[in-house]
Amino acid sequence: MDVTERRNPFGSLASHAQSFTAARLVQTAVAEVRSLTWPRRADRRLLEALSRDAERPRPPARRTVRLTTLRQRPRRVPGRVLFERLGGADEICLQSFVIHHPDATILLDPAVPADVHGQVMPELQPALRRIVWPPASTIPTRDALAESGIRPDLALCTHAHWDHVSGLLDLPGLPVVLHEDEIDWAATGELAPAGGVRRGLADRPLHGFALDGPPVLTFERSHDLFGDGSVVAVDLAGHTPGSVGLLLETEDGSVVLIGDVAWHSRQVEALRQRSGLPGCLVDEDRERTWHTLHRLHALPAQVTVVPAHDHARAARWAVPSVS
Ligand SMILES: [Zn+2]
Repeated sequence: MDVTERRNPFGSLASHAQSFTAARLVQTAVAEVRSLTWPRRADRRLLEALSRDAERPRPPARRTVRLTTLRQRPRRVPGRVLFERLGGADEICLQSFVIHHPDATILLDPAVPADVHGQVMPELQPALRRIVWPPASTIPTRDALAESGIRPDLALCTHAHWDHVSGLLDLPGLPVVLHEDEIDWAATGELAPAGGVRRGLADRPLHGFALDGPPVLTFERSHDLFGDGSVVAVDLAGHTPGSVGLLLETEDGSVVLIGDVAWHSRQVEALRQRSGLPGCLVDEDRERTWHTLHRLHALPAQVTVVPAHDHARAARWAVPSVS
């Protein structure tokens, strides 16, 4: 795997409670009013440019991977609570995936530890904690892995938010791979480390990669993780500075796992950003997140977009439960 071992800085870094500045809370309130009264419209000029980029080639895939979705229980959330101008309701969950490559079995986004309410929630800011509080029925990543019988060689996180990292708290010693920009942000940022992120990343082999490869489809930077075109990291910066997606060539076609650029595929299809609350609290750069959402919307139809919290979409790759 084309990654570089890094000195792990997280053991010596304290976790701390998430705390938003007054300016950010005011910005969130203003954005929420705007979401309710004047939702953002798609940028047609950007979409036009991206439709040409969508024809750019991707690395030819010499091998394929198999994708598995670990079992998780969703909760139903009205669309208008999370997204601008989206009616209906969606099943949202804390999803983890497994990518089976011939050379390595990768746990993608270890989402949740067994004691999420004791180990993670107390560090989140109360306004956000209320929105994301996991139901008691949530399945810890460790348990979902055990029941699947899958033994990963390493974990890879699309970004360093608690619900993509903190499952590592129950998986001691498992090596982890992150985009270099995200390692730097998680080690220095004020928001990234909250919710068990630094503790989850600490005391384990840490590997990084840079997006040093060419543009692929609508994405400006990439990194072919195995050099065979089957698992290509692509730049999805915005939600966090080093967010990446994973463009997979599976036995059943092309898939891009997008982390949290969108929480649901309806957002990508309709081009709707998150509402001001919670959008302004969870997106590091709301403007850039909006542009990245356009990149996903403009992808060729044969690439299936899989948000990390979209239960129904992720369930396409679910393994039958053995319990
Ligand atoms: Zn996130």
